[in-house]
This record gives sequence, structure tokens and C-alpha cells, in this order.
Amino acid sequence: MARDIVENPDLLDELQEVADGMQGNHITLATSEIFEKIYGLELAVCEQNMPMWKYDEWLESYGYGNVPELEEDPEIHRIYESDIPDIGRNGLSIIEEVGTKLTAEIEGCISCGACEKECPEDALKVEDGVITIRSDYCNGSACLRCERICPSKVFSYDKMLYIEGEDAVSL
Ligand code: SF4
Ligand code: SF4
Repeated sequence: MARDIVENPDLLDELQEVADGMQGNHITLATSEIFEKIYGLELAVCEQNMPMWKYDEWLESYGYGNVPELEEDPEIHRIYESDIPDIGRNGLSIIEEVGTKLTAEIEGCISCGACEKECPEDALKVEDGVITIRSDYCNGSACLRCERICPSKVFSYDKMLYIEGEDAVSL
């Protein structure tokens, strides 16, 4: 859409009209202090892999309650391939390789493959005790199914390290 606006500045006026029309009918969450804090935490968890214990620490510091422990893994039903399949006159360009790769040799790993099989996003591969994760596919600390499923309890996401250079290209 940004490109559409650059090519046709009048579109900005149209968008402003839409925004003006929305003011009377929408709650502006961004002005809520609670929203502002929780939104920041959600971004840190989902986008930057902040661990849940840190999330809980922040919640406590804000004076809110902790997130309750999951009693069982939720089922994931993927209905759409992407949240925004098409946007703007020129559509949405999909860049396949955007994320970084993380890797770690896991001491005590028996290469059973349970973590790879459990990953709902096909983000994790394991070979000879070495785990590699595509961060652009991974749901991060909002998920951690790979950690919980490990029968030997040897895998911890905190052990994963960033891969630089050519090795980061394929997984
Ligand atoms: S946290 Fe683990 S199981 Fe979840 S998406 Fe990432 S690699 Fe897969
Ligand atoms: S589940 Fe645990 S033991 Fe099995 S491959 Fe993954 S890290 Fe290794």
C-alpha cells in the first residue's frame, strides 16, 4: 500500500477520509496504558523470542497477574496460509528467506526426532544431536512445544545460537 500511495498521493486523502470515518465507531486501544504495556510484551514474546518467565516478570512489575500455565497443548487449526494474503493494487510480495537461523549441539540428545515432529511450523530440524531452527517460521517462546516434548529433557530453547554467514542460508 505504501507503494500505491507514493505512485498516487491522492490515495492518502482517501485513506484519511476512511480514518476520519472510523473515529466515532472504534475504541482506540493505543491510548490505553494497559494495552500499550501488554502489546509491547506480546511483540517481545512473538517477534523477539522473549522467554515467558521474563514476560511474567514484566507483568508482575506492572502489577498485573501472571499468565496461567497451560494444562495441555492447544490445537492449532490453520485456516489461512497468511493473515494478509493480498494488499494494495500490486499485491503482496512474499520474501521466502527473511529470518535468521539458530543452531545448537544438544548434549544428551538421542536424536529421537520428537521435537522436529512436534513443531507445528516445520521450523526445527534435528540431525545427530544438532538442532537448527528457522526463526522466521518459529513461534518462539509463545510455543516451545519442542522443549516440552523432549523425552530426555535435554533441549532448551535458550541454548540456541544465531548462525551467521552462508550457513544461515539453508536449513
Ligand atoms: S518453539 Fe519449537 S516447536 Fe514451536 S515453532 Fe519454534 S521450533 Fe517449532
Ligand atoms: S526431542 Fe530431545 S532428545 Fe529428541 S531429538 Fe529433540 S532434543 Fe533430541
